[in-house]
Formats: sequence, structure tokens, C-alpha cells
Amino acid sequence: MTRKIAILGATGSIGKSTLDLVERNPDAFEVTAVTAATNVEALADIVRRTGAKLAVVADEARYSQLAELLVGTTCRVAAGEDALLEAAAGEAELVIAAIVGCAGLKPVMAAVDSGKTVALANKEALVTAGALMTDAAASSGATILPVDSEHNAIFQCLAGNRGDDVSRIILTASGGPFRVASAEIIGAATPAQAVAHPNWSMGAKISVDSATMMNKGLELIEAHYLFKLPSQRIDILVHPQSVVHSMVEFVDGSVLAQLGTADMRIPIAYALAWPERIATPAQRLDLATIARLDFEAPDLERFPALRLAREALEAGGAAPIVLNAANEGAVASFLAGHIRFPDIVRLVQEALSSAAYDAPHSIGDVLEIDRVTRDRTKAMMTASCP
Ligand code: NDP
Repeated sequence: MTRKIAILGATGSIGKSTLDLVERNPDAFEVTAVTAATNVEALADIVRRTGAKLAVVADEARYSQLAELLVGTTCRVAAGEDALLEAAAGEAELVIAAIVGCAGLKPVMAAVDSGKTVALANKEALVTAGALMTDAAASSGATILPVDSEHNAIFQCLAGNRGDDVSRIILTASGGPFRVASAEIIGAATPAQAVAHPNWSMGAKISVDSATMMNKGLELIEAHYLFKLPSQRIDILVHPQSVVHSMVEFVDGSVLAQLGTADMRIPIAYALAWPERIATPAQRLDLATIARLDFEAPDLERFPALRLAREALEAGGAAPIVLNAANEGAVASFLAGHIRFPDIVRLVQEALSSAAYDAPHSIGDVLEIDRVTRDRTKAMMTASCP
């Protein structure tokens, strides 16, 4: 049976990997809607390749350019936030949520509220609104399938097991490009060095998050909401080869792990075909050649983002929103060359220590805390990083 899918963030790294799988399985999927922020050329190309019926560009100023590029097709062109929400809540039964950052929150919630199956890559949506989103999924009947390789691994290990039998989950982390770097080298890291991930090819924002290890901190919070486990039962373990994508320990002492090469098409394929599986062209795992798998405890001195994220999760309320918003703002400034690498985590720490917000009761509250924190982070940058 053909599954109708919408791809939010179709022009990004996850979007492209999803399209690769969809194009290899033309009978299995029909692409109904695709979206991008600004990249209308790539979006138009995707429409021509997939026959998508709706193409949405978030930036309204690009509407006429996209419409012009799609003259002669039957695709409907739209722009702006309402159109993004329409793409998320429209006719697709499966929504690939691959917009980067908190910008993806409203579209993800629109898909969840419409009772869709949501293949969730956009971890920031769950970090900022985890409780609201899981409550909304419980009332609409939506299913959230994790695409992040670690959470996808845990999801696979949990299949056929009772949640009550889980004693803890272990998120693995590659350690990023600066795993063995001295504090001095990390202090002088350039954007080019920070995005050069040793194992994974990803978008710029998540690559910088991997370099600070904030990515693992965001994943800790993501895991808390997805698997309903407290912080104390979610461990982080550095595993430089990125072969074991995460593990689950059960009450009897058994540990199940999911292994594979570092290719996002494997977890994306699992979410696309769930509860079945589809073939992928990902390179097969050759353990004899890899020969050894290493594990080590994370270094919280050189990578304080991990500690901040755990503190934010345990503080609850608005803290994860503040953590995420300050991080998004700081990473964008670092990538633009305005601040230094260590300033990212310093700004997040300052934002957290000076924040005093009530816990959010609605997505509107989340977005307001996000907006105010970004403004405050910008002001802190101006004051401390002229
Ligand atoms: P990319 O930066 O490669 O792509 C982001 C996508 O989102 C693009 O399609 C972009 O459009 C769109 N977008 C960006 N900003 C907005 C906005 N304000 N409104 C609407 N659309 C927007 O990111 P990735 O694919 O790397 O990551 C996507 C998400 O998946 C992130 O949350 C990331 O943490 C998560 N993830 C990614 C992994 C990876 O391997 N890449 C692994 C695990 C999780 P445009 O092209 O026009 O800018």
C-alpha cells in the first residue's frame, strides 16, 4: 500500500536522506507536501522529482520565485506559517518532521494535533514542548516515531518488551570533533572545525551542537519525553566509533543495543516503514574490520553543555526552553562568526542562571519564552562579545 507522506524541511540533510529512500521505493510512498525555509530552487527540484502536490516556502518573500519555478506543474505553491501548518496537518498520514530548531515546533504540533504518525527528527520541538506534545499525542491518537539515531535505536530495542522491565537507557555519543582536543584547542575552534563531524554528515546547527555536546544534552531531554524516564535513568556514554547507536538495560541485567553504520537512512527507513522494514543502500556493518568498540565516560569539564542540559531537565518548567533558545541563538551567532566557540555554552549558562519564567501551559507560552530568551541572549552577546 502506498503511504502518503509530507516532508517538512525537505531541503535539509534529513529531508534529502528521506527523499533518497522515497525515490528508491516509488510504489511505497506518495509525497503530498514538501517545505523549506528559503531554498526555493532545491524545493522546486524536489517537487519535479516527486510530483508533490503542495510546496511551501516559509519565507513569504520567496513565494513568487517558487511559483515561477513551478510554472507548468500541478503543484500548489504557498508561503508562510499557516501554509507550513497546512502541510503538516494535510492529507499525509506520515509527517517527516525535519525542520531545524524551535521553528519546527508549531508544524510538529499541527501534525500531532491532527493525529498523524510523526517521524520526528526535530528534537528541539520535543525539548521545548515535550509535555505538551506527548499530552497532545495521547489525546489525538498521534504516534511519534523517533528519527534521531539514538532514540530510534532505543525504540528498536524496546520493541516487544514491557516499559516496566526497563531499568535504564544508555545514549551513546561520538564525542564530536573535539573529543580528545585540549581546552585550549576547543577555545579557539572555528566554525569550519566545529561542523567537521568525524562520523556523521549533518546540517550545520546539529553539527555545532555535536561539537559542544549540547546535542547529547538535547537528546537527554528528548529521551526523557519519548520514553518517560527520569534523568537518573538516562545515562550518556561516549562511543567514538558511532557503531552502537544506543542501548537499553532491563531489570534482569540484559542490555540490548542497536548497531549499524553511521547513515541516517537506517533510522529514517525504520520510521518510514514502521512497523515493517524496507531495504536501504546503507553500507553494511563489518565488525571484523572495525575490530574494536570503545566506550568512555563523558568529560563534563571540557563539555559543560551536558551538565547544563541535565540540570535544565531536572529543573523542569521553562528551563529546557531557555536552554534551547539560548543555544540556538548562540550557535547561529557562532556560525556567522560573531562569537567564539566557548561563548556558546557560556551564554547558555548565563541565560539559564538569570531566567525566571513560569512553566509553559501552551505552545504560545513556549514561543514567548523562546522569543524573550533569544532577545536576552542577543543582549548578553552585545554586552560581552562586542
Ligand atoms: P538542515 O539545516 O540540514 O535542514 C533544515 C531544514 O529545515 C531545511 O529544509 C530548511 O530549509 C528548513 N528550515 C530551516 N529553518 C526553517 C524555518 N525557520 N522555517 C521552516 N523551515 C526551516 O538540518 P538537519 O536536516 O541536519 O536537521 C533537521 C532536524 O533533524 C534538526 O532538528 C536536527 O537536530 C535533527 N537531526 C538531524 C540529524 C542529521 O543527521 N542531520 C540527525 C538527528 C537529528 P532551507 O533549506 O530552505 O534552509
